[in-house]
Amino acid sequence: MESQSRSLSRLESLDDYDPNAMPVAQARELIRQFLTPITEQESVKLSAALRRTLASDVLSPMNVPPHDYSAMDGYAVRFDDLANAAGKFKMIGSAYAGHAFEGEVLAGECVRIMTGALIPQGCDSVVMQEQVTVEGNSIAIPGDLRRGQNIRRVGEDIQQGSAVLVRGQPIRPAEMGLLASLGFDEVTVYRKLKVAIFSTGDELQQPGSPLAPGQIYDSNRYSLLGLLNELGVEILDKGNIRDDKASLKAAFVEAAQQADAVITSGGVSVGEADYIKQLLAEIGEVVFWKIAMKPGRPLAYGKIGAYGKIGPCHFFGLPGNPVAVMVTFQQFVRDALLVLMGQQPKPAFTFKVACASAIKKVPGRTEFQRGILSQDTSGGWSVRTTGEQGSGILSSMSKANCFIVLPVSQGNVGAGVMVDVQIFSGIN
Ligand code: AMP
Ligand code: MG
Repeated sequence: MESQSRSLSRLESLDDYDPNAMPVAQARELIRQFLTPITEQESVKLSAALRRTLASDVLSPMNVPPHDYSAMDGYAVRFDDLANAAGKFKMIGSAYAGHAFEGEVLAGECVRIMTGALIPQGCDSVVMQEQVTVEGNSIAIPGDLRRGQNIRRVGEDIQQGSAVLVRGQPIRPAEMGLLASLGFDEVTVYRKLKVAIFSTGDELQQPGSPLAPGQIYDSNRYSLLGLLNELGVEILDKGNIRDDKASLKAAFVEAAQQADAVITSGGVSVGEADYIKQLLAEIGEVVFWKIAMKPGRPLAYGKIGAYGKIGPCHFFGLPGNPVAVMVTFQQFVRDALLVLMGQQPKPAFTFKVACASAIKKVPGRTEFQRGILSQDTSGGWSVRTTGEQGSGILSSMSKANCFIVLPVSQGNVGAGVMVDVQIFSGIN
């Protein structure tokens, strides 16, 4: 605990450490060094396991499919009979999904079979119903068959004993179905990460109450509620805290003792940061960075509650501007929380498309402009910005479906130039 606090201050001795112009990738990397995933596990019902993280590898207890099944509606036959039976088979019964044909199929015989039905004993191929001619109980089958055709083989999807999922896998809809297909009704997952959030600012009013002059609504806490809900963490919503030292300190201490991470918005810009810095120094250790990015310049990261009863708790002090909150959450906090949850997040899915119109940019910062990726009538994809890009213009996040990521060294972008886009995931 203490060594982690000490190493936070050791950051300052790093050669390329510049808290006033911290590159995005470096800040991400520095945060990563302080993240220790939670280890406590629990068993949960599969029906309640969405967005949880698997705490152990899953080996398949069975073959999937567990038996040979028909992949078509048609007739189950013995392939070797085809020559002997001269293409004519006697239909001796039917097999439906969930209702097997009980007897054995002998030479010259066939069974009417439906998709998902067990292959009757003796049969090894299924002929599609469209290919046969039915005359009463006699079925005429053409000669161009392949042995084993139209059968879903035992174990063709998953073999018994094989590794299906590994520890750290997030449980998404596909994993819900996959685990169910193996017969699991409970899974072992890591306990839920507890994340406390609060807004700071005397100017903030809660939605539902009228605004007095000079007030604005507290939107950040709602964006954060949405972002955190997507991750499947347990949220401790601490409301809005006044810009007052005693209230802020009490809120920090309480949150640090209850949660694995605390996320705040506002109060980290120049001036205010000094004041919060002082306060946080009393209950932990926090570094303040000016990230070389737009929007989202000021960002605080650290451990708080280090000297309290339960700590240390991770602290993310996000900027106050509503777009900056969402961008910094997406670029730093989301992956950090996923690591704490026991996952290994993959880098954001990024690819290049043509920029439909020119963008103004000054070199020196990574910009995350809000973009709309769309397809033209000939099927080609391009991106345009949502328009005005101020960090308070939250409607830009609602209109956008991606970030246009412009690197630090990039200047103005001409129309038609290829730019990196990052599809929103977990944002909309
Ligand atoms: P600050 O970093 O506290 O100076 O805030 C920067 C800007 O973001 C100011 O214009 C604040 O009014 C605004 N802001 C701070 N917190 C919130 C919030 N929870 N919801 C909406 N706007 C906010
Ligand atoms: Mg403020």
